Order: sequence, then structure tokens, then C-alpha cells
Amino acid sequence: MGVNTTTEQPEANVLTTTYDKIFNWARRSALWPMQFGLACCAIEMMAVLDPRHDMSRFGAEVFRATPRQSDLMIVAGTVTEKMAPIVRRLWDQMPEPKWALAMGACATCGGPYRTYAVTQGVDRVIPVDVYVPGCPPRPEALMWGLLHLQRKIDRMTRGRVTTSSEPVVIGATSADVANMARVKEARS
Ligand code: SF4
Repeated sequence: MGVNTTTEQPEANVLTTTYDKIFNWARRSALWPMQFGLACCAIEMMAVLDPRHDMSRFGAEVFRATPRQSDLMIVAGTVTEKMAPIVRRLWDQMPEPKWALAMGACATCGGPYRTYAVTQGVDRVIPVDVYVPGCPPRPEALMWGLLHLQRKIDRMTRGRVTTSSEPVVIGATSADVANMARVKEARS
């Protein structure tokens, strides 16, 4: 039958790798985002699933209707002070490992709403891995953020369940990131 057994050609049937590589490959290739949107940015988020952008090419098209089956929270839109505790509760209900992507100026730093009613960045309630600025960012920008998140996941080790300590800001230099931190501090 031509079945190739390990006794005939052992070297052709052996693959050596590490746990980290296998786990990271599986995790980054099957991200399940949570299905929720907060404002106008959510419309752009929906567009990544259309045939033109087709986020399923990157294995992240299965939006789940419950946090318990999700490992990626895309915060798309304005986070109000009233909504912030609910976002936090949904985040807490997601199993580890999990990741967060802040989509748009509102989720990143409050956007145009410098007001007591709007949370000045969702990172005040949950740890954010990737920031995608813009008002709104185009679907391509969201996919670019997703690719950056996949690169972060590739650098994970089994001992480190989240990657929140080193956020990525799409399209920003280190000076931009420092400025963003200063603006957040001034607004707080
Ligand atoms: S960043 Fe702009 S497009 Fe996105 S939710 Fe805020 S106001 Fe709307």
C-alpha cells in the first residue's frame, strides 16, 4: 500500500519543535473575537468580515456571542463611564489566555470626547495589547493590528499567559507612544 512507517524512514516522520511554538501557532491561528461593538468603529470592524477584506484568511473570523468562548476583545467604539464596568465584567468572564485590541481614538484615549461621561481610554479598565488609532480606523488598519497581535502571541511562552505588558501602537513611533502617555496623564 505504500504506507511509510517510521521503521523504514524514521527521519521523514519526525518533527522536532517546542511546546511554545506549537501553542503559539495554534493560538494565533484561531483567534475568536467577542461579538460586540460600542459605537461607529464597530461598523468598520464588521467590514473586516466582508469578501473584500476577509479576516478569515488570518483565522479570526469566528466572532463568538459569549465571552466564555472568546479569547480576543476588540473594543470598537466609545467606552462610556456607564459601560466601562460591563466591559470589565465581560473581560473577566473570558478564559485565559486572552488579548485586547483598542480600535479607534475613543477606545485608545477617549477620542473627541474629553468629558466626564467618557472613559479616557479602555486601558483604564482592561489591559490592552494593541492600539489601532484613527477615527474610525479602516478595516485594513484593524487587520494590521491583528497581524501585530499575532506576532506578539508568537513571542509568548507557556509561563506567560498574557502579553499586556508591552502594548503595540499601530503606526506610531516611540515618541508618539510617549506623547500618548503624557496626554493620558494630563487628562487624568
Ligand atoms: S473613534 Fe471616531 S469612529 Fe470610532 S467610535 Fe470614536 S468617534 Fe466613532
